[in-house]
Amino acid sequence: MKTKYSLFIGGQPVAGARDAFPVIDPATGERFADCPAASPEQVDQAVAAAAEAFKSWQYSSDEERKAILHRIADAIEANADELAQIVTREQGKPLALAQMEVGGAIAWTRYTAELEIPVKVIEDSEQRLAELHHKPLGVVGSITPWNWPLMIAVWHIMPALRTGNTVVVKPSSLTPFNTLRLVELINEQVPAGVINIVTGEGGIGRAMTGHPHIRKIVFTGSTPTGQDIMRNAADNLKRLTLELGGNDAGIVLPDADLDAVAMGIFQTAFLNMGQTCAALKRLYVHESQYEALCNRLVEIAKQQNVGPGVKEGVTFGPVQNKAQFDLVSELVEDARAQGANILCGGAALPGSGYFYPPTIVADITDGTRLVDEEQFGPVLPVIRYSDIEDVIARANNNPNGLGGSVWGTDIDQARRVAARLECGTTWINNHAEVLPHCPFGGCKMSGFGVEFGEEGLLEYTQSQLLSIKRA
Ligand code: NAD
Repeated sequence: MKTKYSLFIGGQPVAGARDAFPVIDPATGERFADCPAASPEQVDQAVAAAAEAFKSWQYSSDEERKAILHRIADAIEANADELAQIVTREQGKPLALAQMEVGGAIAWTRYTAELEIPVKVIEDSEQRLAELHHKPLGVVGSITPWNWPLMIAVWHIMPALRTGNTVVVKPSSLTPFNTLRLVELINEQVPAGVINIVTGEGGIGRAMTGHPHIRKIVFTGSTPTGQDIMRNAADNLKRLTLELGGNDAGIVLPDADLDAVAMGIFQTAFLNMGQTCAALKRLYVHESQYEALCNRLVEIAKQQNVGPGVKEGVTFGPVQNKAQFDLVSELVEDARAQGANILCGGAALPGSGYFYPPTIVADITDGTRLVDEEQFGPVLPVIRYSDIEDVIARANNNPNGLGGSVWGTDIDQARRVAARLECGTTWINNHAEVLPHCPFGGCKMSGFGVEFGEEGLLEYTQSQLLSIKRA
């Protein structure tokens, strides 16, 4: 794995104009490499290069772009081991999970390659032919978070390229290297300037969101940042796709078969050490099953092997960064002080890495920070309920609206409950599953717009109605 990376602007590797910044390995808490940092002028250069490339890329054929996306997928596949190593090193997740992330990046790229941009015939009459076409927007800015950094970059970049846009990418400064490498690989397959990458903080993201020549921002990250982006993007009426924070509720109905659901609940709550936007973050369990399910979750938690992601046999890695690690500790301590019962975990592991074991918190309810706020880490509050109407109201009584789930045996009943949840995706007997053909996005403070499938693809386009007079 190399430790020296460049920005890419106009097809060329470029050194950062600002001082490089350290990237921390969360398994040690120590710097392992420096990342080049772009200046606001380099953001301008990247946007100018993308705008220049757009002049011809927008007219490339569907067939050409499909073929290029498949070649990009081949390149990711050929470099899969290296990319997975980088993800584990800077993000912290166990290597097997990083390999899954790279596998997802390949699958999403291939699926997106094959998506068709539809032309809808609105009217075909003696008077006229009216067709709805979809054209690319221009320069798209992609801003990504640190939890699934490679996968999310792919989710942003591939539909943008497939529809004929050019792209400027800015990865999280906590996990920049996988995306720098990805963009280097994509650059080998596309004309100069079609994809560009800048890095850093200190106004780099804002230089993009306020840029007059960027037509759309696709952003995945926290709600406060999403709000700032929306304000800053107003001047040239940028299109926005905002995939923001979540605080997903899961409701376990009285008839749930615990043998069938306990493992799924654990896995989807603790996916990526709980650092997943649509992880199950508040678990509501009917009183008749409460203790039994808590016991099972604790059993599964205790089977996890917590350690550095690079180590063989490790199933549970560190929290990605110190701020998130401190927040998780703080929320657990607050819950403890409020009288909650910490059934397992509940204390950071000694040492300099950001290790926090899977933590199950019982005898806790709404109104506690751990329930009301997005913990985005390895701790799950389990909340008792007795009445279905009441639990639906409590699940919905949260500003976020990303995902939600219902766990039960009677699917018709589960459906009725799921239909009443205020969120972009509802799962029954599952949670946190995203698929390249299923549109995914949030409502309320979790954002707007969707990714994936045809609906996600069309968010990178401007519709144009063509009307031909016949009589
Ligand atoms: P963050 O908002 O702190 O940062 C995300 C990105 O935005 C980074 O690249 C950062 O440099 C950049 N940024 C920061 N301030 C900016 C500004 N003012 N203007 C423009 N860019 C700016 O989020 P994070 O801590 O990296 O990610 C964790 C959050 O992301 C959680 O809330 C999680 O739920 C959410 N998330 C949502 C989804 C989803 O699909 N809805 C997916 C993954 C993560």
